[in-house]
Amino acid sequence: HFMNEAQRRVGAVINVVSATVLLFMIIDIMLREAKETSALELDFARAVATGEIQAYLQAQCTADGRIVGAEALMRWRHSKRGYVSPAEFIPMAERSGLIVPAGEQIAAIVCKALHAWEDDPVLSQLTVSVNVSSAQLYSGASTTKLLGTVHEAETPPASLKFELTESMFVEDFEAVRSKMEQIRGQGIRMALDDFGTGFSSLAYLKLLPLDQIKVDQSFVRDLPGDASAAKIAATIVHLGEDLGLEVVAEGVENHAQLQALQAMGCRIFQGFLFSRPVPIEEFEALARSGKPLPAAPRPA
Ligand code: C2E
Ligand code: MG
Ligand code: MG
Ligand code: MG
Repeated sequence: HFMNEAQRRVGAVINVVSATVLLFMIIDIMLREAKETSALELDFARAVATGEIQAYLQAQCTADGRIVGAEALMRWRHSKRGYVSPAEFIPMAERSGLIVPAGEQIAAIVCKALHAWEDDPVLSQLTVSVNVSSAQLYSGASTTKLLGTVHEAETPPASLKFELTESMFVEDFEAVRSKMEQIRGQGIRMALDDFGTGFSSLAYLKLLPLDQIKVDQSFVRDLPGDASAAKIAATIVHLGEDLGLEVVAEGVENHAQLQALQAMGCRIFQGFLFSRPVPIEEFEALARSGKPLPAAPRPA
């Protein structure tokens, strides 16, 4: 009995010690992570301030590789670390609010390019999408700033599109919807990004002033083998068709995925199969060459 009691006490002490060690480990990790994050945040803030944020363009194509537009994607090359993945810096930029000035810069770069493209017979036909964060729409001032940027650059509004995600509607549906109306009133088109991954109420799709929905790459990735991914992708394509919306499939990496999406009725594609995101000048050369991107369906 005595031994048992001693063992119980020793056991309890060990538990307390190991819990304490674990706690200290967690605190240490948290502190280190916080430090890392704030150093990165500081560097990002500096990069935004000095205009080091770049916009890459990724082609959007028809199945035969004809370019119809592009999506602008934010790129950041850190002086010491090289290119930082958007998966790392975008969430940090969202948390800190730096996404507003950074997104503003991407919009300004794209608007300037679209203005320069106006007299080009090929480039003037293309539409470029810019990702817009919820922080840019929740504040009236940043929406005004965004539209001001478009005007200042004398951007042909019909060449510009803004991409929003479903998660933006969770907080205040009406606020975002009315901002969308305001933007669309200027002739700028609107796309719903990563469709099907977020708060998917189908009813609100009808209430939003949308021109395009984008099938998320998580559904495209597992085509054609995965039956449920195929069902979801097909449902999104048909839904878009029924609502009179343009449908773009994202993350198309191979011919099998392309063919499956084509069979569903999808007509516009974006993905590594056609092109990776490239610097603007490189995209301009790609589009001007008039050559279809390397995606012509392989002969059967
Ligand atoms: P997104 O808007 O859904 O952009 C598509 C992402 O898929 C891009 O990642 C693109 O590089 C990647 N992608 C394109 N084709 C393929 C493919 O065939 N396979 C695979 N595996 N991936 C492909 P990226 O550039 O890393 O951007 C990630 C996310 O960061 C974007 O997702 C968007 O939500 C956000 N983001 C990027 N630029 C901006 C920006 O300027 N403003 C805001 N607010 N968010 C941005
Ligand atoms: Mg996008
Ligand atoms: Mg997307
Ligand atoms: Mg995405």
